[in-house]
Amino acid sequence: MSRDPADPAVIGAVEGRIDDRDLPLDGHLHTVMSPDANVAIDTYAEAAIARGIPAIAITDHLDFEPGAPAFAHADFATRERYVRDAAARWADRGLAIAFGVEITFQARYATEIRSHLARHAYDYAIGSVHVMRDDPYTAERVAAWVDGRSFAEIVAPYFTEVLAAVRSGLFDTLGHMDFVKRYLAPHVPPTAFAAAPEVYEPILRALAETGTGLEVNTSGLRQAAGETYPAPWVVERYRELGGTRVTVGSDAHLARSFAFGLGRGYDVAAASGFREVAFRRGGTRSRGGEAVAIPNPRPVPTAASG
Ligand SMILES: [Zn+2]
Ligand SMILES: [Zn+2]
Repeated sequence: MSRDPADPAVIGAVEGRIDDRDLPLDGHLHTVMSPDANVAIDTYAEAAIARGIPAIAITDHLDFEPGAPAFAHADFATRERYVRDAAARWADRGLAIAFGVEITFQARYATEIRSHLARHAYDYAIGSVHVMRDDPYTAERVAAWVDGRSFAEIVAPYFTEVLAAVRSGLFDTLGHMDFVKRYLAPHVPPTAFAAAPEVYEPILRALAETGTGLEVNTSGLRQAAGETYPAPWVVERYRELGGTRVTVGSDAHLARSFAFGLGRGYDVAAASGFREVAFRRGGTRSRGGEAVAIPNPRPVPTAASG
């Protein structure tokens, strides 16, 4: 039932079906300013120009739990200078670089996160729930955690925190809504998530109510989950419930992952009826105040069409 994270059939099947060029934005990227990435910002900028992608958002990690990897990796001023300097250098070449952040949401640090966001001006703030060292989903704990528990019990700690992240109203966008699929993949397949829409429903309603955007994160296409975070049906349901705001991002931590699966991600958004990237809370404005249109969904090429 489970998929091997390194299963080349899964990765290959995805790579054969996507066209990651001429898309409006890669809205989720990690550089050397993240503790788990070592990509120079200019590497992404060059790749974006080569692929006809006119806007990127740098969203390096920021953690609030003392001792967590991105708690003290790079301070705000360093991160801001790094991104703003590059933005100034690349603007002439037609590339817009937004200074964003991906904050790890933990309800117990909500006050600190609120204070940080009130004091620091980002172009864009993603709030994400990650698997932290004390969580039950770490590689050492996950097998014991799933043993004897129902699906609802297994995912409850993760989705409870996700709901709190949305209700906090702190973020422009919710990052990789069901990222826990990655950690559960050896034990709980993505089909089990698709069979449990009730787990997603309160979060989708809260997204719509708070005006928080939903990210279609394409990193799942290159990981064991083999599908976007979240899956296409979740994006569709978000729209049905009144959600109006989506972004698409590769969540690259490596140069080769830049824009990976982005074409698929935009197709997911477009197929659910979204016509524009909603980059910031309060509007669909992105580079230079222009709304950024999502391309029409493209047909999935068959083997015969090459
Ligand atoms: Zn993340
Ligand atoms: Zn990320």
